[in-house]
Amino acid sequence: MFQRICLVHYHEIGLKGHNRSSFEMRLLKNVEAMLDGYPVVTVRKISGRVCVFLKEETEYDLACEIADKLACVPGTARVSSGYKTERDIDEIGRAAVDAMHEAGRFESFKVAARRSHTDFEIDSMQMNQLVGSLLCEAFPEKKVQMKDPDLKVCVEVVQSSAYVYARSIPGVGGLPVGSSGRVMCLLSSGIDSPVATWRLARRGAICIGVHFSGRPQTSATSEYLVDDIAHVLEKTGCIARVYTVPFGDYQREIAGSVPPGLRVIMYRRLMFKVAQALAAREKAGALVTGESLGQVASQTLENIAATDSAVSMPVFRPLIGTDKQEIIAQAKELGTFEISSQDAPDCCTLFMPRSPETHAKLADVLEAEKPLPIDAWVAEIVENVEVRDYACPAYKPKKPQPANS
Ligand code: ATP
Ligand code: MG
Repeated sequence: MFQRICLVHYHEIGLKGHNRSSFEMRLLKNVEAMLDGYPVVTVRKISGRVCVFLKEETEYDLACEIADKLACVPGTARVSSGYKTERDIDEIGRAAVDAMHEAGRFESFKVAARRSHTDFEIDSMQMNQLVGSLLCEAFPEKKVQMKDPDLKVCVEVVQSSAYVYARSIPGVGGLPVGSSGRVMCLLSSGIDSPVATWRLARRGAICIGVHFSGRPQTSATSEYLVDDIAHVLEKTGCIARVYTVPFGDYQREIAGSVPPGLRVIMYRRLMFKVAQALAAREKAGALVTGESLGQVASQTLENIAATDSAVSMPVFRPLIGTDKQEIIAQAKELGTFEISSQDAPDCCTLFMPRSPETHAKLADVLEAEKPLPIDAWVAEIVENVEVRDYACPAYKPKKPQPANS
C-alpha cells in the first residue's frame, strides 16, 4: 500500500509576481487548519499544488471524505486523490492501477505524465507508454482516448518522489480566505445574506457577521438560526465571528418617532451605522448585504441610496443583479437554505409599516432622522453587542486601539 495523498490544485489567475507565494501560504495554512483531527502527516507545497500527505492505513472512504472537505475550501480549483511512491517506474505503474481502481465510473482514459527534473531517466512520453500499457492490461475493457477522455491518470515525478492520481473532483474555486482582507456582513436569518457572505468569502475575504435581533421585543429564534448558518459557513473556514445586536427597543423608538413610510429606511440606516462602527473595530474594509434590486420596498434604487448615505464606507451587494430563484439554488448548494427557510420573527418585520415608502427622498429621511439621538445609540449599541467566535484560520483579532488614537 502506498501513502495516500490529496492534491489541491488552484487557479493561477491573479497569482503573478510576489503575491503568489503569500497566496499559496494562505491556502496551505487554511487547508492545514481545516484538516485538524484528520489523519494527516503533513501538508506541503509541491510543484504548484498543495499536497496533503495522509497517514499510513488511511482508508479509501476517509480519503474521499477529506477530498470532499478540501473541495469546499475557497481557493481550491480541484482536488485529486492518489498516492505518493518512490521514483521507480514499477511502483508508479502499480500505484496507477490502484488509483484507477478508485476513480469511479469511466469508459475512456489516458495517462498524463510529467517530470519536473530531467535527472529521472524515463521521460514523460516513455512514462505515458509504460504506465499506459500496464493500465491497458489491468483494465482491458476500458478504452484509451487521447482527446477528452473520461479519466486522466496523472503521474508527476518531483524530486525524489512520484505522485500518481486519477480521482479528481471540482473545488469551489476563488481565492483563499484571508487573501482579500475583511468584510462586515449583515446577516439576517433569511435566504439571501448567507449567500452574499459566501460570495465574498469565495473572493478571499474574511467574513465577520453582524445580526440585528428583534430582542427584547421578539424571541431570540433568529439568533439561533444565524448561529446555525455561521456553523455551515464555518466548515469552509470563512467566518470568524458574529456580533449580535439586540435591536428591538431601538426599532420601537424609531417606529414611534418617524413617519411610518420611512421606518424601514431608518432601521436600515441605523443598522449600517452600527455595522460601520463594528467594521472600524475589526478593521473591515466594506459592508456586505444580501440585497437584490427591486426585491422588496427597501431595495429600490432610491431607498438603497438613502441607506448608503448613512455610511462612508463601501457597501457590497453581490446579489444585486441576481433573482430569487438563483439565490435559492445557491443557498441549497451552500447548505443554508433549510435553516433560512425556518420562521423567525425578524426585526425588520417588527413594527413594519403598512405601506413603506419605495422612493424615499434623502432630504425627508435626514429631516426625520434629525431628532433621533443616532450617535448616542450607535455608541450604546456597540458597547452592548454580543460576540460569538467561529473557527477561521486566517483571522487574528485586531489589537484594541489605545483610547486616544
Ligand atoms: P435576507 O433573505 O438576506 O434576509 P431579505 O430579502 O429578507 O434578505 P431585507 O430584509 O430587505 O431582504 O434585507 C436586505 C439585507 O439587509 C439582508 O440581505 C441583510 O444583508 C440585511 N439585513 C436585513 N435584516 C437584517 C438583520 N436582522 N440583521 C442583519 N442584517 C440584516
Ligand atoms: Mg431578511
